[in-house]
Amino acid sequence: MTDTHRSTARFDGAPPEGLLQQTAGYLRAYDLPIELGDTGLSARFSEAYVELSMDDGGFSLDIRAGNSAQLHQAREGVLVVLDQISPEACAGLEWTGEMARNVRPPNFHLGTVLEVRRVSAHFLRVTMGCEGVLHLLTGGMHFSLLLPPGPEPRWPEVNEKGRTVWPTGEEALHRAAYTFVELDAAEGRFSFDVFEHEGGLATGWARAAQPGDIVGVMGPGGGDFPQADHMVMGGDETALPAIRRILEHAPKGQRGEVFIELADPADRCPLALPEGMRLTWLTRGEDAPLKAHMLAAELPGPEESRFVWFAAEAGEVRAARQYFREEAGLKRQEMYLSAYWTA
Ligand SMILES: Cc1cc2nc3c(=O)[nH]c(=O)nc-3n(C[C@H](O)[C@H](O)[C@H](O)COP(=O)(O)OP(=O)(O)OC[C@H]3O[C@@H](n4cnc5c(N)ncnc54)[C@H](O)[C@@H]3O)c2cc1C
Repeated sequence: MTDTHRSTARFDGAPPEGLLQQTAGYLRAYDLPIELGDTGLSARFSEAYVELSMDDGGFSLDIRAGNSAQLHQAREGVLVVLDQISPEACAGLEWTGEMARNVRPPNFHLGTVLEVRRVSAHFLRVTMGCEGVLHLLTGGMHFSLLLPPGPEPRWPEVNEKGRTVWPTGEEALHRAAYTFVELDAAEGRFSFDVFEHEGGLATGWARAAQPGDIVGVMGPGGGDFPQADHMVMGGDETALPAIRRILEHAPKGQRGEVFIELADPADRCPLALPEGMRLTWLTRGEDAPLKAHMLAAELPGPEESRFVWFAAEAGEVRAARQYFREEAGLKRQEMYLSAYWTA
């Protein structure tokens, strides 16, 4: 990563009590890799680096990233954490360097529906025209789809203090995370698959969407392609697009296992499975549950390069997190366990 984009901040005065330890606690809860010292800490936010250093007169922040969108995202993340620890300290920061003000967020783009077509029994593929595709290529596999409540949307804006302000009340946007299926920067388009489920706002939107409809696209973000010699992967319908993309990018020599649980076998799709990986399709309600397969999967010891990737309903993920952290003893950097929806 080149750190050509930089934003720094200074707080003069008595720092909030336990600032370092509290910040470290929040960052660990978000599973971000951190290094903690006596007078400072550094952390990686996706593609950006953040340093917090304490001194006798107060504390300083230094954020570096490869582009404006990543810098903005990291800055927002820092502010969210600081706001929870001390809103006063957060408001008292004097910022210098690059900072978006009075504009749309640098990681926000408008998307125009080009086509919606059915790809399987319960999946619709949406193809979207988007000027910002080049910026969506690196920094995560996912984006937030922002659906406006009416024909004259109000989009998020960065205010004069550099903070993103979201429309509220009747103007509030519906946000749902999706995974890119394909990104084509030359053509300025990308696609994603919507799993149709009862009561889903995005489901209703995708079913009714027409070419020319405008939505907001915020990203990229979320997890990136995991890298390890041995991978155990699992997920439900919502994770299928991510698993498919990870397998497309996996090296030929990749070893491991993949479990995918679907309600309807008619949603199974071809996957680019490396030779050393075994794939098990599970049918919900008929086979042993996904979680049981994940927990029973064989994992090499800590001396080997290994990774567990699991995305599904929040309760399933909670149980898996407890098992892999506490019983299997995996380190944070050896797993991605993410709640993709909440029942
Ligand atoms: C990083 C990430 C990547 C994701 N990628 C994809 C993707 O590529 N494709 C995809 O289809 N989904 C994906 N998801 C899941 C998707 O964001 C959620 O399912 C989201 O709730 C869908 O929004 P909605 O507007 O349809 O439903 P909402 O309006 O948010 O929820 C309405 C109701 O639907 C229920 N609900 C939500 N999801 C499901 C479900 N899967 N099954 C049954 N009931 C459900 C909720 O409990 C709620 O009661 C991803 C999630 C994350 C976090």
